[in-house]
Amino acid sequence: MAADPIQRVIHALSRLPSVGEKSAARMAFFLLNQDPAVTRELADALGALHAAVRLCGECANLSAQDPCPLCAQPRRDPRLICVVEDISSLMAIERTGVFEGRYHVLHGLLSPLDGVGPEQLRVSELLARLSRLLSAEGDWGDHGAARAGARVEVIVALPSSVNGNATSLYLQQLLRPLGVALSRIASGVPVGATLQYADQVSLAEALSARRPL
Ligand SMILES: [Zn+2]
Repeated sequence: MAADPIQRVIHALSRLPSVGEKSAARMAFFLLNQDPAVTRELADALGALHAAVRLCGECANLSAQDPCPLCAQPRRDPRLICVVEDISSLMAIERTGVFEGRYHVLHGLLSPLDGVGPEQLRVSELLARLSRLLSAEGDWGDHGAARAGARVEVIVALPSSVNGNATSLYLQQLLRPLGVALSRIASGVPVGATLQYADQVSLAEALSARRPL
């Protein structure tokens, strides 16, 4: 394969999203012009990435800690759960600064044509999490058992694409029998756009104008 060290770096960099051969070459020559310590720091950081990062056992966020820093914040309402496609969407909603609940990261969308079913997503984890929350309702005490579920709300914050809509519908049918309140973010987010490209203001509005499913 690429024995030449420069070609090897260019080849490796050009596999990154949005990085073409030209940009990869620019990065490689930039690094060559830097102090070797810069390259070493980058290589160390990349080398530690997989060993240091894990999935949060609560929300499936990626973090060096389990539970992740978001799940560890006591001021965040554990009974308000925003379901997102991926970490980029989580970060987009976090940037709005208005959401005070927690997240659940699916790590994808249903896509039957590509062989992505519920088993490939973090759906069973969501169900387990909700049933834990609902069974803990009794301990909070001030509502009767019949109304217990009404205190947990799931906000579906998935893109308005074909796969996003299919996943929302699936979650709606799956979660409705549990008795949790279900809502979907309003359509301020353009059709087909992934959340990470939505601007902060329209995303914050879409979140506060969410409508029941
Ligand atoms: Zn978490």
